[in-house]
Formats: sequence, C-alpha cells, structure tokens
Amino acid sequence: MASIFTRIINGELPCYKVAEDENFFAFLDINPIAEGHTLVVPKKEVDYLFDLEDEVLAGLTSFAKKIAHAIDESLGTLRTGIIVEGLEVPHAHIHLIPIYFEGQPVSLGRKTEVSEDRMKELVTLISKAVKK
Ligand code: AMP
Repeated sequence: MASIFTRIINGELPCYKVAEDENFFAFLDINPIAEGHTLVVPKKEVDYLFDLEDEVLAGLTSFAKKIAHAIDESLGTLRTGIIVEGLEVPHAHIHLIPIYFEGQPVSLGRKTEVSEDRMKELVTLISKAVKK
C-alpha cells in the first residue's frame, strides 16, 4: 500500500505544498513543533533514509538545503535544524525545524498549535522564497 506521503505527492491527499522538483517534494508538517516545520521527502518511496541510493540521498540533502535557506530567508530564523526519525511514517523524510531563538526546544514530542490561516501564510511565505 502506498505511504501517506506518496498519496500526498500524487495529489490524492491535501497538503501545504512548499516546493517540488522531479525527484523531491516539500510540505508543511501537519503537527508542527515550530511554525514553518517542513518535511522533505524523495518521491520514490523507500522506508529508511539510509537505505536510499547514494545519489538520491545526496539529492534529498541538496533539496533540503534549498528549502532550509527559503525558510531562513522568509521566516527570519536564527537557522534551520534537522531531525530524522521516521518511526511514524515509513517513507524516508527529513524534518526541517525553524529555530527562532537560542534554547528553543527542538524535539518531535513537542507539538505546537498553528491555525489553518497561519499555515496558509507560512506556506506562501516559504514557497515564494524557494530559489528555482
Ligand atoms: P516521523 O515518521 O516520526 O519522522 O514523523 C512523521 C511526521 O509526519 C510527523 O511529524 C507527522 O506530524 C507528519 N505527518 C503525518 N501525516 C501527515 C500529513 N498528512 N501531512 C503532513 N504531515 C504529516
């Protein structure tokens, strides 16, 4: 059965889409731990990040870098951190976590409330800042 992320990529399920290219896709995490928390995933469905082919892993990292710079530029972060866990959704992904202040808790256990209107604003801001 296709993963929930494959169904998002195929347009079968809604998402706040940040960007995509031929091989990779970025969208806001629906249960963010910080405003602008974004997931980057390969379109090819593989469960474990470190089972990705070398060139796919390298491509995903470059794509994540581009999205992280867009987050930094559009949301005025100190920087963007990354978390890789993958215990909930069996489709390799990197969490990009905007860090706004020193000491900000960065843990996937700490969800924050973000309204639908704010999610729409965030996705517009970040997606406009993604360099082609
Ligand atoms: P993990 O597999 O533990 O790295 O975490 C999976 C992440 O996917 C969690 O942070 C979820 O909030 C997120 N997530 C699950 N379903 C969706 C969805 N439909 N849209 C956006 N994010 C999702």
